[in-house]
Amino acid sequence: MSKAETGRLAAHVKGISKSFGDGGARLQVLKEIELEVRRGDITMLVGPSGCGKTTLISIIAGTLKADAGELQVLGQDLRKMSTAEITRFRAQHIGFIFQSFNLIPTLSCVENVSVPLLIQGVSASKAEKRAKEVLDQVGLGERTKHRPSQLSGGQQQRVAIARALVHEPELIICDEPTAALDAKNGHVVMELFEHVARGKDRAVLIVTHDNRIFHHANRIANMDDGRVVEIHDVDADNPPPEHLKHVERL
Ligand code: ADP
Repeated sequence: MSKAETGRLAAHVKGISKSFGDGGARLQVLKEIELEVRRGDITMLVGPSGCGKTTLISIIAGTLKADAGELQVLGQDLRKMSTAEITRFRAQHIGFIFQSFNLIPTLSCVENVSVPLLIQGVSASKAEKRAKEVLDQVGLGERTKHRPSQLSGGQQQRVAIARALVHEPELIICDEPTAALDAKNGHVVMELFEHVARGKDRAVLIVTHDNRIFHHANRIANMDDGRVVEIHDVDADNPPPEHLKHVERL
């Protein structure tokens, strides 16, 4: 691969393996997995429950360590960084949206969304202004003072998405971003991801079972039993293949 092509990659996973458990109960979840995540693309990771999707995105986001293989994320060799270095790197450059949202219950929406900016040393007033802007983009401009418990699941999910986008990270990784959203809000969120990925040359990596959003992908990676078994580049001439629309739901 040329240097220019390498520079286009937000993440390059080469021969990554991961097992859980010990001895006879040891389960190999990722088997020398290969994946390229390009800037400017929305890459979707699909496949049956338990095939290793969440494990893979957790390794790319640096919240879990691989047992073997190489991993370049935004030009950094994550396998050579300490846990503290990875935590700092993630806070600055990666927006990670957990399936469980992980919002702070005692903080309002605007305070939750401000957190990544405050960690970076942005002043409280600037952070609040920017957080309100992003909450507006996800359709929650009227809910800035609410606490997470006062919101529906879909609204909490949009707050988590706003928090992941607020500091304009170069790589956005999300587990089932539209699972709790109705068609209208799912569309709002995917449009926002498209805007972020294409307009600003960032990369979006999504784990999904949601057939409704496949057409937003540039690339669909189909996983099975710890491996990427198919890659489809999606465009006007190459719509998402029908057989991927029947992947097992959670
Ligand atoms: P997917 O996201 O495709 O549903 P996961 O990556 O969540 O799959 O899980 C893959 C397999 O690894 C499953 O069998 C799951 O039970 C197992 N697994 C995931 N995390 C752990 C863990 N922390 N300890 C033990 N087993 C785990």
